[in-house]
Amino acid sequence: AALVPGLGTWPARRARAAAHRPALVGPGRTLTYGELAARVDRLAADLRARGVGAGDRVAQVGVNAVSVLETFFAVWRLGAIVVPLNHRLAPAEIAYMLADSGAALLVAGEDAAALVAAAAPPCPVTWTDAGFEDVATNGPTLDDAPDVGPENPAILLYTSGTTGRPKAAVLSHGNLTWNTVNQLADTDVASTDRALCIAPLFHCVGLGQITLPTLLKGGSVEPLPRFDPGAVLARIGEAGITSFSAVPTMLQMMVEDPGWEAAELGTLHTVLYGGSPVQERVARAWLERGVRLQQGYGMTEASPGVCMVPREGDPGRPVSVGVPHFFTDTAMLRDGVRDGLPGEPAELLVRGPHVFGGYWERPAESAAAFVDGDWFRTGDVLRVDDDGWADVVDRVKDVIISGGENIYPAEVEAVLVARDEVADAAVVGVPDERWGEVGAAYVQLRPGRALDEDALRAHLEAHLARYKIPKYLVAVDALPRNATGKIRRVELRGRAVPAAGGVR
Ligand code: ATP
Ligand code: MG
Repeated sequence: AALVPGLGTWPARRARAAAHRPALVGPGRTLTYGELAARVDRLAADLRARGVGAGDRVAQVGVNAVSVLETFFAVWRLGAIVVPLNHRLAPAEIAYMLADSGAALLVAGEDAAALVAAAAPPCPVTWTDAGFEDVATNGPTLDDAPDVGPENPAILLYTSGTTGRPKAAVLSHGNLTWNTVNQLADTDVASTDRALCIAPLFHCVGLGQITLPTLLKGGSVEPLPRFDPGAVLARIGEAGITSFSAVPTMLQMMVEDPGWEAAELGTLHTVLYGGSPVQERVARAWLERGVRLQQGYGMTEASPGVCMVPREGDPGRPVSVGVPHFFTDTAMLRDGVRDGLPGEPAELLVRGPHVFGGYWERPAESAAAFVDGDWFRTGDVLRVDDDGWADVVDRVKDVIISGGENIYPAEVEAVLVARDEVADAAVVGVPDERWGEVGAAYVQLRPGRALDEDALRAHLEAHLARYKIPKYLVAVDALPRNATGKIRRVELRGRAVPAAGGVR
C-alpha cells in the first residue's frame, strides 16, 4: 500500500475533521470540504465515463475558478494527469501543448471559448458550464477509485518559457505533497485561513505556494479569475483575507494602485511571493504597511519551493530569498563539480522529495537537467552568505560576458530602478565587435518623466564598475512580460539597438 496517498483523496481526508468548514469560495457561493469531496467523486465518475483512466492526460484551460480546482482533484482521483494550459497563449501554442502532452480530453472554461475554437484541439472538449455544475451536484458518484501513490505523475506543468520553448515538468503526487509539507513547515498557514489564489493555476506559484498548503490545513481558498490590483486590495478588507501568494509584479501594481493607502490590510498574516526578482522599494512599501512578505525562490521543476524567507524575516535583508526549505538539500556547481554553498556565487543545485524526475518525453533534456545523480541544475546563480541566507544573482543564461568579464543584468537593473524616474528596467546582452557582448538597458520611465541620459549615466558610473555600464540606454513605454510577470528577455535580445549608443 502507498504510504503517501494521492492528492485526489485530500478533500475527503480533510472532510473527516472539517466537513462543514469552507474549502473553496467562488462568486456568491462557498463549498465546504464535505461538498467538495462529494463533487470531486461525481466529476471523477463523469471523467471516467468519458474514457479517462490512470495515466491519461487531461488538459485544462481557462481563468482561475472553483471548477478548475475541482477538475484537478477529479483527475487526480482517477490517477490521471492534469495539464493546465495558460489561457493567454496563442492558439498555435495551445495546439502544440495539447499535441505534446497527448491530451485525451480538454476541460475548458467558457472564457476560453474563442481560444479553444482557434486552437482546433485534436481531442474532445468538455466545458465547465451548466452541464459541469449539474454533474457535480447530481451526477452518479465514483464507486471505486484506483490506488494512487507518490510515484504516480499528477501534473504536467509547462515552465514559463523564459529561456526557450516551455517544457512540461512531470510532477508526481509525492512531489506536490512534499512541497506542501515544506511550505507548511516554513509558513503560518492555518486551518482558520481565508486565502486568495491570485496567481494563475497553470503556474506553480498559484498551486504550490498557497492553494495546496491551505487546503491540506483545512483553510479556505478563493480563486480569482484575473488580477486587478484595486479589486484584490478591496477584497482583502471586505473578506478578512489572511493570506495569498503572488508574483512580484502583482505586489508592485498593488503598491502603485490608487487604493493602496486606504486598503485595510490588518487581517493579512502570510503573503508569499516568488518567481522573479522584486524591487527593494516594493518590499519596503509592504513592510511599512505592517505586512511582512515572505519571499520564496523556486521553479516549476521543484514543485516549486526551494528557498524561503523564515517567518520572522530580517528587515536588513529585504530582497533575500532566505534559506532552503526543511526537506530540501542545496549545493553549488563549481567548475562542473558539486561543492558547498558559501563562497563565490555559482549555479545552485537542488535535491529533495519535491524535485521532479524529468520533463515529459524529453529524455535528453531530462538527463541534462541533473548532475551527480539526482541533483537538479537550477540554471540560476545564487550567492549564499555565512548565515546560509541566499540571494538570487541571476540566471546562468542571462549573464553577459563582456571583454571576458561577467555582468549580472539583475545587479545593473537594481541600480537603474533606484532612480526616481525609472519605473522598471531590463538589461540584456547584445553582440559587440570589440567586447563580444555588451549590455543594452531597456528603461521604462514613470509617467510624465523623460530620459536624461547624462544623469542616468552619471548615476550608473557612481554605483557600478565601468565594464558593467550598459553601452545602450533605450527608453520604452513598457517592458514585454509573460503571464506571470517575467520579463521576456528573448524578445528584447531580438530588438535592434540604436546605431549610436552611449560611450562605454
Ligand atoms: P523556462 O524554464 O521555460 O525558461 P522559467 O525558468 O521562467 O522558464 P519557471 O519555472 O516559472 O520558468 O520559473 C523559475 C525561475 O524563476 C527560476 O529558475 C528563477 O530563474 C526565477 N525565480 C524564481 N523565484 C525567484 C526569486 N524569488 N527571485 C528571482 N528569480 C526567481
Ligand atoms: Mg526554468
